[in-house]
Amino acid sequence: MYTHEKAYREALMPENALQLLKEGNERFINNLAANHDLLQQVNATAAGQQPFAAILSCMDSRTSAELIFDQGLGDIFSLRVAGNVLNEDILGSLEYATQVVGSKLILVLGHTKCVAITGACNQVELGHLSGLLQKIRPAIDAETTVTNERDGNNPEFVEQVTKLHVQLTIAQIMEKSEIISDLIKEGKVKIAGGIYDVKTGKVYFLD
Ligand SMILES: [Zn+2]
Repeated sequence: MYTHEKAYREALMPENALQLLKEGNERFINNLAANHDLLQQVNATAAGQQPFAAILSCMDSRTSAELIFDQGLGDIFSLRVAGNVLNEDILGSLEYATQVVGSKLILVLGHTKCVAITGACNQVELGHLSGLLQKIRPAIDAETTVTNERDGNNPEFVEQVTKLHVQLTIAQIMEKSEIISDLIKEGKVKIAGGIYDVKTGKVYFLD
């Protein structure tokens, strides 16, 4: 698979950008990865890049966005940090991806068995990690359906918090960034959320 031409990317609608990721994940789980000619892609992207999507995902070694969406060089901006938390630098990077480079889609991607989410649910404190885990706290506070064992030992609770954390992160991006919320209002950019299942390799997109 060759890197998409610039004109193709510019004409791409935000909804189609999401479809490209869905199709890529289908190829991944069916073990039908496209034959990425990475050296061709080096040449095709040497003069510049125009990734069609920016993906905020966890640093977890099992959740590499390029692999799970079967994308090659120059296809996506990949922003990775434990627990896919938002901070000022990531927000600035997302603004750069969309407003400056023209990416059509922002995807916030959580995943199952996330140690950061579990740690936050267990109120783990450790050096600089404590501050990072605090960023997951709003999702824990927002979770109201699980009545007992509201901690990291309860898979149901962790799963609920994981989903809420993705949804709240999307809300935060739109609330904090006028640049991105305007692009979304104008229909130039779409924002979506998903959960990657580390057992099956499948990404479940959230509404
Ligand atoms: Zn994780």
